[in-house]
This record gives sequence, structure tokens and C-alpha cells, in this order.
Amino acid sequence: MVNLAQRTLNRGLFERVFSLMELVERIPDDLSDEEVEGITALLPTDVAQTVTAFLEPRVRRAGIFFLKMIARWMREAVEAKSSGKKVIFVPFNFVPELIHAFKSAVPLTSEVLSSLGAAAVKGKGHVYWDFAMGLGIPDHLCSSSTIELGSMLSGTDMTADAIISSAAGACDANAKIHEFAANYLGIPQFVLEKPVDDTSKGIEQYEKNFLRLTESLERFTGEALSEEGLQEVASNINRASEIYYEIWEMKKLVPCPVPNLFSFFMYGCRFTMWGRKESVDFFELMAKEVKEGIAKGKFKQIPEKVRCGWLYTGYYIDYAGLFSWMQDKGYSYLWDILDLFFPEPISIESRESILSGICESSRRFPMTRQMGAESMSAAWLEDAAHIARELSADCAIFCGHHACKQTWSVISMVSRELQRISGIPTLNLQGDAWLSRVTPISVIQSEIDSFVRNVIRNKGERRKIRRRKGWRTTQYPTLATGLEDERE
Ligand code: SF4
Repeated sequence: MVNLAQRTLNRGLFERVFSLMELVERIPDDLSDEEVEGITALLPTDVAQTVTAFLEPRVRRAGIFFLKMIARWMREAVEAKSSGKKVIFVPFNFVPELIHAFKSAVPLTSEVLSSLGAAAVKGKGHVYWDFAMGLGIPDHLCSSSTIELGSMLSGTDMTADAIISSAAGACDANAKIHEFAANYLGIPQFVLEKPVDDTSKGIEQYEKNFLRLTESLERFTGEALSEEGLQEVASNINRASEIYYEIWEMKKLVPCPVPNLFSFFMYGCRFTMWGRKESVDFFELMAKEVKEGIAKGKFKQIPEKVRCGWLYTGYYIDYAGLFSWMQDKGYSYLWDILDLFFPEPISIESRESILSGICESSRRFPMTRQMGAESMSAAWLEDAAHIARELSADCAIFCGHHACKQTWSVISMVSRELQRISGIPTLNLQGDAWLSRVTPISVIQSEIDSFVRNVIRNKGERRKIRRRKGWRTTQYPTLATGLEDERE
């Protein structure tokens, strides 16, 4: 008898998600409540949960735009296969804009596909994880990439033409699964290593590594990157970056007028279409939606009870069960670590200046920036304390993710110091961001609820203390956080 896993493995994750996206491409840019109800009624429960979250009235226009943008990103990979372009798999801590600057290549991000699988296919992509485990891959590798790469390894999915690994020096779990997939599938792997050295010597070495990788990609695609292509990408980045900081400034308002899901949308766009006109349009739409919400006072309908900052990733097993649920409870999801990509203006003067700007974005990427730093705990804490103060957070939440041994190794130190410096407590959760069978979303919800009820007390008092110590309103947050003043 053919079991469900075998039947599901007849189709890869990419293909299954893309089938849903083809439907999304056909829906109008806005929908009525009745139309949303009609669409979700036709979908399997797992999938309906995601679609409900993305189409709820608070985020509907941005949610539809986001889904259509992802549909386009996936369609470009499908079309690349038939037009002779290269499909290059990249991890989420790599800059997709470098690949967008090529005419002959398109990027696909493994972790974005795993997140779509965990949320938008029946069975949540578990079969691809199981398949990878069946090959003997240890379960301490990260589900963020193993789910999609497991699907590719099963031979039922789209196969990339090359893989870029940029986690070397930041995350072994991520680097190893990309390396294994490249070897197993017999496709080239390009490695971008970050030296664990943040002095000028380390930065110089990283630039050399980045330029070497760019040259390898040029040889592989047979295309020399043109200055015009790079300029187009950099101009889009500069405009999208301005709007990123505009939204960031609005996040500082109390209560927060930026819907919880926008935190996810911001990096979902960063990891896929950054450097493209679509990213500019999307950030413009999000900013417009927030401003409209402020003008109409819509965001005040549910009183904000707690402002939460997620120290690492979020959970991607149930968007309605996390982002929308928190919003309904009055728990603002201000940021998670993946939002901290802090784009900087790129000089479009020359090919060299643009590549140098993109290289610097890559060096400061979330995860690389903290876990690939000279001191993991210090870099992570510095970012957390700075952002907690900027966004006036009441608490931090750590998505304890079973593969992420490195974050587990320092979280107790980071949370203790965060409490001491910023006066905010941290909730440590046990679960897996991409595998719902590890900890169900109902348990995550009840942990957050108990934490808010039992630990977040005297909120007003803590805020007063932090406000007395001064308020930073830098437009471009940097690592110079002024923690020294806090420690006095
Ligand atoms: S979540 Fe942790 S284990 Fe997974 S890729 Fe990121 S740093 Fe690595």
C-alpha cells in the first residue's frame, strides 16, 4: 500500500507551494471578507491557517502583494529552467541582490521555501524532513534548510544549478546541509566564509572572499556583471532602505501601529526580491498602510498590552497562530533577529562601490552579524539591548530552536545581561521554528500567555526607568549602542 509520505514525495515542496502560488497570482489585489472566506474554505486546514493570516483585514493588501511577489519569485525560477538561466540556491544569510544583478541567474532561498512548506502545504513539509532523516542526516541539522533541501534530495523537486553556502563561520548546521546537498546532487557549491574577526583585517578578508565568490559566479554563469545591472539593483536597494527606516521609526510609537506580520513581510522581501523594483513597491505599500492605520486610529482598536522583541527567529509553523494571535491579544511583535538587516545607502558611482556596498550588507546580515562575530554573546547582546531600547520593548522572547546549539549555548548569558542592562525579562521557548510536531503552537501560545501574566509586571515602572536613561533616535542603528551609559 502506498502511504501518505510516498504519495507526497511524488511531488517536491517547491512544486506544491508553486501550485498554490499559481492560484494566488490570479486573485485580485484586494478581496472582500466573503471572498476570503470562500477561498480559505477550499483549502486544507494547514494551508488555510497561513492564508487566513495573510488575508486578514489588518494586513490584507500587503499580504496579497507579498504572496504575489513570492509567486513571481518562484515563477522566475521555473522559467529560468526552461530558458537556460541558472537557478542558484542561497541560504537566508546571503544577499539575493547579487544574483538579481545577473541577467543569466535567479536566486532561490532554501529557508524561505522551507518556511512556505511549513505553512503552505498540507502536512507542513514534515515528509521532506523525514526523507532527509532517512538518508542518515542527523536531526541536529537545521530544519530551516533541511526541509527544502530534503525535498531536493528526494529527486522529486526542482534541482538548483549551484548552491551558495554563506554560513561558514556563522552556523555549522546550515553550512553542512548545503555542502551535503551540493555533494549529493553533484552540483557546484560556492562558499563565502566570514572570518571570526571583526577588526579591519577580518573585514578586508571578508571583502576578498566576497569578490572571489562574485568572480566564481561570473565564470559559472558566463556573464560579467555590468555596471548598469548593478546600478539598477543598488538604486532599488537605496529606495527600499529609506522606507525600511520609515517603517522602523513608526515601530517606535506606543502603541505600535505596525501590524505584527509586517515584521515577517519585511525580511521575507529582503530574502527574496531585495534589489528589485518589487521590493520598493512592497515597502511603499507597507508604509502607506501603516500611515493610513495611524490616520484612522485603526491600530488602537485592540489596546497594546505588551511590546515583545524576539531575540532570534520567530515560529513559521502557524502564522495565524503566532502573528495574528499575538496581535489579537495586544502583544506587539516588534522585531525578530531577521529584521535586523539595517540596510545602508550604497554608492552607485562605480561597479566597485556597488559591490563593496552589497558586500558590507552581506557581512552585517542577521545571523552572520551575531553568530559569526568575534564574540557571539557580545554581538547578540549589543544588538538586542540597542533594539529593545529603540523600540521600547517590555520583554524579549527566545525561540529556542533545537538545531541551534550555538544560540542555546549563550542565551542564558544574553538574557541575564539583557535584564541587567535594559531591565527586560526573556522568555525561553522550546520548539522548532519549522517543525510543528516538536511543540504545537497551542503550547507556544500558552507559554507566552503565562509569561505575560506572571512575569511582565510593573511595565510602566520599567519604562519610566529606561526613558530616564535617554532615548536614541538614530536613523541608521549601528553597533555603537552606548551600552556603556546604561552600565553606569
Ligand atoms: S536557526 Fe540556528 S541552526 Fe538554523 S541556520 Fe540559523 S543559526 Fe543555524
